[in-house]
Amino acid sequence: AVKVAGKGHHRFYQPELFEVIRQRRDIEQNLVAALEEDQFTVYYQPRVDALTGEMCSMEALVRWIHPQQGMVPPLEFIPVAESSGLIAQLGARVIDMVCQQLAQWKSLGLELLPVSINVSAHQFGRGDVDRVLAVALARYGIEGRWIEVEITESAMMGDQNDALGQLAAIRSQGVRLLVDDFGTGYSSLSQLQKFAMDGLKIDRAFTLELGKSKQGEVFIRAILSMAHALGMSVVAEGVETVQQLEILRALQCNEVQGYLISRPVPAEQMLELMRKRFLIDLPEPVLASYCA
Ligand code: C2E
Ligand code: MG
Ligand code: MG
Ligand code: MG
Repeated sequence: AVKVAGKGHHRFYQPELFEVIRQRRDIEQNLVAALEEDQFTVYYQPRVDALTGEMCSMEALVRWIHPQQGMVPPLEFIPVAESSGLIAQLGARVIDMVCQQLAQWKSLGLELLPVSINVSAHQFGRGDVDRVLAVALARYGIEGRWIEVEITESAMMGDQNDALGQLAAIRSQGVRLLVDDFGTGYSSLSQLQKFAMDGLKIDRAFTLELGKSKQGEVFIRAILSMAHALGMSVVAEGVETVQQLEILRALQCNEVQGYLISRPVPAEQMLELMRKRFLIDLPEPVLASYCA
C-alpha cells in the first residue's frame, strides 16, 4: 500500500480504502464459491522437541488454491471469512480434513503425532467448536488426544459466550489447548490457569528479537518460568536461524517451529518428515545463561 509517512504517523490515501473494500467484497464472493467447489487444502508444519530435534507434533494451516490466482495466503482471506461469517463453515471443513488426514496416516501404519488446529475468535464465539470436533473425530475414528486447538488470547477472553464452558467441553474430549501468538494479547496468569491451557506458543515477533536485543531474551525467559511454574509447555514460533534456536535451547524452551526446521508442507511431504522423525541435527545444548 502506498502510504505517506509523516512524523510518527502514517496517512493512507482515501482511494486506497475503497480499493480495499472492493477487494474484500471480491474475496467474500470468491470464498462462497471456493467452499462449494472445495478449493481448500491443509498444509502441515512440524514442531520439534528443542532438546532432541525429534518431531513431536505439527500445525495444520489452511491453504486456498484458487483455480486462476493460485495460492491465496490465509492472512488475505481468514479476516474476510471471519467478518462475513463464512469462518464457521471453513473452520469445520479444516477440522474435517485434518481428522481425515490422521485416519489416512493411521491406515498407512504410521505412528500418529498430534495436529494443532487454529480456531479464530469468531469461530470460537459461535460456541459450537466442541461439537464440530466431536463429529469429525467420530466420523474418522480418531481419538481426541491427536488434536490440539490453538486459540489467541483475545479469543479466549471474548465475552460473547461462555468461553470457559466451551474450552472445558473441548478439553473433555482429550483435546489439548494451546494459546497462540502468546505475548500479543492481554491474558493474565490467573486466566491462563483458570482456562486450563496446556501450552503457550510464543509469537514470532519475540523470537525475532532473540540475538538482537537483551529484551528479547528477558521476555522469553520470563514467559518460560511462568509457563513452567503453571505446568504449561512452551513452543517458540517463527524460528528461522541457528542462533535463535541455540538461545531457545539454552533457555529450556520445550519446542520450536519455524522455517529453520521446515516450511509448512502438503500432506504427502509431511509423510516423509514423519518417517524421518529427527528433522534437525542438534549438538548437546549449552545451558549457559544468556541473560547474565
Ligand atoms: P499462526 O497460527 O500464528 O501460524 C503461524 C504462521 O507463521 C503460518 O502462516 C506459518 O506459515 C508462518 N510461519 C511458520 N514458521 C515461520 C517462520 O520461520 N518465519 C515466518 N516468517 N513465518 C513462519 P500462515 O500459514 O500464512 O497462516 C497465517 C495465519 O492464518 C495463522 O497464524 C493463523 O492465525 C491463520 N490460519 C491459518 N490456518 C488457519 C485455519 O485453518 N483456521 C483459522 N481460523 N486460522 C488459520
Ligand atoms: Mg497457530
Ligand atoms: Mg501463531
Ligand atoms: Mg501469528
